[in-house]
Amino acid sequence: MTTNAPISFEFFPTKTEAGHEKLLATARTLAAAGPEFFSVTYGAGGSTRDGTRRTVLQLDGEVKVPTAPHLSCVGDSRDDLRSLINDYRANGIQRIVALRGDLPSGMGHASGELRYANELVEFIRAETGDHFTIEVAAYPESHPQAPNFETDLQNFIRKARAGADSAITQYFFNADCYFHFVDRVRQAGIDIPIIPGIMPITNYTKLARFSDACGAEIPRWIRKQLEAYGDDSDSISAFGTEVISQLCERLLDGGAPGLHFYTLNQAEPSLAVVRNLQGDR
Ligand code: FAD
Repeated sequence: MTTNAPISFEFFPTKTEAGHEKLLATARTLAAAGPEFFSVTYGAGGSTRDGTRRTVLQLDGEVKVPTAPHLSCVGDSRDDLRSLINDYRANGIQRIVALRGDLPSGMGHASGELRYANELVEFIRAETGDHFTIEVAAYPESHPQAPNFETDLQNFIRKARAGADSAITQYFFNADCYFHFVDRVRQAGIDIPIIPGIMPITNYTKLARFSDACGAEIPRWIRKQLEAYGDDSDSISAFGTEVISQLCERLLDGGAPGLHFYTLNQAEPSLAVVRNLQGDR
């Protein structure tokens, strides 16, 4: 398959200088694939406020790929949010991923003044008008705290109506859940692009832990195969690349408007999939 669909890559800010240098090198490698944008996660409660800001400004200014900070409202005051948003605007940043966030365990209850992502979208629009392209999160398999699919769908629609321009999904391995979610959003008259979030497969234990926490189902046939590979990381990577490439092909064939890769700060697992999609198999 050959595709020119827009792609984007997500990073997390690192705790050490060595990690930061490695992240910049990874980003330079991924920049060669021609992404539409990069994004950098934010530790809810402001735990990575400086690291996220520094990484965003360097990727944007030095690696020269437009970069979007993630911003979460669950632990930040309106004043904190206002000053960060204005700072990003003053530095020429034009896209924000607006989230509620999850406070890390041990940080107590949410201390923010805004409770849900739709309120953050409204806040950004009220403060900065149309300056930012605002992305929000979408959950084709439902957010883990949602009581049911319908309620979560209505809450997603609130974010679109609050002024989101586009959405990025939680990762998933079942293309049908994405198509079903998009159909339901369209039936509600919402037409913003919904970009699938793609998690490359490189390590079964970590993937299983993440997936439990964020509510992404690993199909039994994938789980069984990964378990059978044990510590054989080459076989896991080869199988993972094939499975994820096929998932991406199906999504793009079915009309997905682009792909957003959760890189976990590694270049090769995402690039292997992108190469397959761009016809270098
Ligand atoms: P919301 O849209 O606010 O939804 C949270 C829950 O509340 C859902 O169950 C929803 O149904 C319900 N809800 C929503 N609005 C209302 C309302 N008005 N009234 C009542 N109930 C409501 N986390 C981070 O900490 N940092 C990151 O950088 C980060 N990046 C992410 C990027 C992507 C693309 C995705 C998909 C997730 C990311 N997350 C990140 C995780 C995210 O913060 C968590 O999934 C969090 O639990 C929900 O955030 P949200 O923005 O989707 O919240």
